[in-house]
Amino acid sequence: MHDPSSEDKELDLAWSWTALHRLRACPTTSSPARAGRGRWARVAWLGALLLAALVGPLAPVASGQYFGRNKVQYKPLDFQILKTENFDIYYYPSAKEGIDISARMAERWLARLEKLLNHDLTGRQSLILYASHPDFEQTNAIMGEIGEGTGGVTEPLRRRIILPLAEPLADTDHVIGHELVHAFQFDMTARPEAGPGATGANVLPLWFIEGMAEYLSIGPVDPHTAMWLRDAAREDKLPSIRDLNHPRYFPYRWGQAFWAYVAGTYGDDAIGPMLTTAATAGSPEASFKGILGVDEKELSEGWHKAIRAAY
Ligand SMILES: [Zn+2]
Repeated sequence: MHDPSSEDKELDLAWSWTALHRLRACPTTSSPARAGRGRWARVAWLGALLLAALVGPLAPVASGQYFGRNKVQYKPLDFQILKTENFDIYYYPSAKEGIDISARMAERWLARLEKLLNHDLTGRQSLILYASHPDFEQTNAIMGEIGEGTGGVTEPLRRRIILPLAEPLADTDHVIGHELVHAFQFDMTARPEAGPGATGANVLPLWFIEGMAEYLSIGPVDPHTAMWLRDAAREDKLPSIRDLNHPRYFPYRWGQAFWAYVAGTYGDDAIGPMLTTAATAGSPEASFKGILGVDEKELSEGWHKAIRAAY
């Protein structure tokens, strides 16, 4: 469904994203459906400074600095730790229901992603689980405010994943998978010499980073992505890959479509090397030539051809 008002809000926010994308920690919307409706947000991180830009029906446009603003901690939570093979899972008694299944989901994602990205995640992974979205919004694990449309966050400083348990379970599974991709992105492109929390992933565009997280957590097919592709193909308005840097193109959906094409054409094995190559160069285009052997123009042409053939 086309909703011009939400599109305008996306456009407003997107400019904030462009300005902030170097500073990013990474939140995800809680579901592709929410993303499709434009209820999404992102949080930016630079050392101890976190800027937030939020958008959604309940938070029209609220970007800016949050100096001096503290989140209200209105409910003390008695956190406990569940240690699994690879995760330290923080939870509190009212979130107990769902912890075991979340732990299994997290371990399953980790095994898949380690294989797919050919990378063993460094150290143990922290996963902080909240029983509800209002509880999640008062987290002090990150600075800055969390919007109603944010389904989870991964912060690069200590690589912690923070999320509320969502209904249905499939949403929680998606968000754990999506956020864990960010944990891999931060770990694979870590630059400790550049300062705490510095990673090569932070300088890459959202469509590259978020699209990868969406592709790896959802797979190649998403009805909202398909709708956007179909509309653009029929109106002969397909963006080139370079165009995806423009805020007009919602990075989660167009980025997912980009990665679905790349992985479908060149194989999932290309994803890890593309990430590290792009992060080292500070540009996705370095990974097209370096890993795929094509330039941006050739890759865009092949992508468009595949979209037109499908729609
Ligand atoms: Zn994300």
